[in-house]
Amino acid sequence: MSRLATTLPSGFLPMLRHTSDRRTALWAFVFFPAIGFAPYVEPRVIPWILPLSLYFGFCAGVFSHNHNHSPMFKSRRTNAFYSAWLSVFYGYPTFAWIPTHNLNHHKFVNKAGDATITWRYSKRNTWLVASTYYFVSAYWQAGPLKEYIAKAKSGNPALYRQIATQWATLVGVQFSLLAIGWLTHGWGRGTLVWAFGFAIPALFAAWSMIFINYIQHVHCDPWSEHNHSRNFVSGLGNWLVFNNGLHTAHHESAGLHWSKLPAAHAKIAHLIDPALNQPSIFGFVMRAYVLGALSDKFRTKQVGRAPYDPPGGGEVKLETAGVSAVEAGVNASMA
Ligand SMILES: [Zn+2]
Repeated sequence: MSRLATTLPSGFLPMLRHTSDRRTALWAFVFFPAIGFAPYVEPRVIPWILPLSLYFGFCAGVFSHNHNHSPMFKSRRTNAFYSAWLSVFYGYPTFAWIPTHNLNHHKFVNKAGDATITWRYSKRNTWLVASTYYFVSAYWQAGPLKEYIAKAKSGNPALYRQIATQWATLVGVQFSLLAIGWLTHGWGRGTLVWAFGFAIPALFAAWSMIFINYIQHVHCDPWSEHNHSRNFVSGLGNWLVFNNGLHTAHHESAGLHWSKLPAAHAKIAHLIDPALNQPSIFGFVMRAYVLGALSDKFRTKQVGRAPYDPPGGGEVKLETAGVSAVEAGVNASMA
């Protein structure tokens, strides 16, 4: 539990399933809109506010990931409201995590069948491949997403209503925010305050989630018990990103609440190849991509067996596996 959570009076936000999510709620309901509206109140904070906006955009991605695995509230209705709320800051309806992440990525873990395989067009890990991976991943996620929506439409009306609500909230609220910008600052500056307050952080949220998924799996060994993912283990870093760096433990128990990941990681840390327990994302990016551009020795190397090298041999097909809108996996209480 975070220190912040323990200093709040007991019984504060009793609708939460985990008291540690008081901090999540503070970020999502206070900081997300506050930082978003800051350029509206004082346009001169542009572009100084950008690092903060991008950080909170990243958190919006992390929260939508966490909420889809382990819903934040006790009530289904509040969870649906929170999903719609997060969709605005994530820049995409948050249901999208279910077909391509919960039901697909967690099942295939970067092996053939996963829509988000890191090795689709290149087996190398360079800045060019990593930074443009967003477009590859987004393109290949479109198939399972479409299939999931079509199945929800024909066989799961409650789920379909949630998808429609998230889309409507995202488009309606973002357009209203743009309109508020125009009304208060005119066309040009109004567009700018909206872009820096809400649009750029939301675009970054989706890009950064796909990027982090890439660096958490590229050159890992999906056939191994504990070397299937890369971790970023810095304490401060994980405090800032709600333990999103502890990816091995997350894959081994996808429904486990984010606040319990450090304990789960501590139990298996010694079983993970040390190359896959990196101190921080920034250090990793500097080493693999900045120094790696100068010399091969700084780049990542395949750890163990590559995802495209099945132990039994045989042909590797890159088709994405089908998804169902009835089965909800670890996400049962959301659908
Ligand atoms: Zn996950």
